[in-house]
Amino acid sequence: MLIPEMPCDEVLRQQILDDQELLDTPADPYLDTLVRVIREVFAVKTVLISLIDHDRQWFKSRIGLDITETRRSISFCSHTILGTTPFVVEDTQKDLRFHDNPMVINTPHVRFYAGQPLFSEEGQALGTLCMKDSVPRQLTDQQLHLFIDMAVLVEGYLKLRHISEQTTQLRAALSREQRKAMLDPLTQLWNRAGLNHFLPRQQLQADELGLHLGVLFCDLDYFKRVNDSHGHAAGDQVLWETARRISSAVRPQDVVTRSGGEEFVVLLLVRERHELLQIAERIRSAMSKEPMDIDNQPLNLTISIGAALRAPQEDPNSTLKRADQALYQAKGNGRNRVEFND
Ligand code: GH3
Ligand code: MG
Ligand code: MG
Repeated sequence: MLIPEMPCDEVLRQQILDDQELLDTPADPYLDTLVRVIREVFAVKTVLISLIDHDRQWFKSRIGLDITETRRSISFCSHTILGTTPFVVEDTQKDLRFHDNPMVINTPHVRFYAGQPLFSEEGQALGTLCMKDSVPRQLTDQQLHLFIDMAVLVEGYLKLRHISEQTTQLRAALSREQRKAMLDPLTQLWNRAGLNHFLPRQQLQADELGLHLGVLFCDLDYFKRVNDSHGHAAGDQVLWETARRISSAVRPQDVVTRSGGEEFVVLLLVRERHELLQIAERIRSAMSKEPMDIDNQPLNLTISIGAALRAPQEDPNSTLKRADQALYQAKGNGRNRVEFND
């Protein structure tokens, strides 16, 4: 196996990557949409936005792969960032550099790889956009150009994100280690600790902006049946897809968390009840409108949602509790519905 060399400007590269505050951040709905589109366009199994960190590659966005990171020494992308053009391995088994790579020999059994480096403003390759498949593949010139164009879009988005004010706020509020402890590895959403962190902060921000804190307590309906009849791994895929659908249904500034098992809590700043209920309805319909594709099988799933708006002077934990009570009502009233706690 060919061990990737270190880029000649590795120290500077790593420093710029750290400055971007991209590592160990929650999933981004726009990047998730992009990787989903790329997977459709190229009909490959896996598409990743990979960041090359000290001794690992960490995936900022991923579809078709269950793990959040791999060792840098075995990663294909560490080779890609050494160049400026697409790095393509059409068939790993016929390639002496990769035929005995653990990712080729073991799961995910990579046969095809194509990666394009993603550069920072300063011209440092921070990571890659890459595609993998479990069968050998060839890309036409036209496909290769399209792939480079897609990478330009990802790169542009990352640059814009870096200069956005929101990033500055997040950086001020949370260190990288804190952030890491607040991420759910399965869905790449904030976990329960993240919810506890953001709840009082969202309330303060609502007060500052003259808005109201709204809470949506969402729970998958009959999720246990999925595990029972399709297995735990299929259940995990459903949780992943649910996280994506909820994130796509809300606004970029809303805080989406996986508070536990098959429960998702969304924190939103809204003007009034109608705005909150409209977003709740968008989540409900994003779940029910089309079946999920789990291991090439269509699976119909619905979600029940309890909503509450913080009353003046109310402890935000009580608002959370009231949203949970409304969820209980939604379950009792037949599921696949939104109930509001007045
Ligand atoms: P209800 O409509 O009343 O909410 O029914 P339900 O089946 O969704 O709820 P219940 O609380 O009975 O079951 C939740 C299940 O979620 C049980 C548990 O095994 C499963 N679960 C919790 N966490 C995970 C996880 O991380 N992965 C998977 N695959 N299953 C999980
Ligand atoms: Mg449930
Ligand atoms: Mg539950």
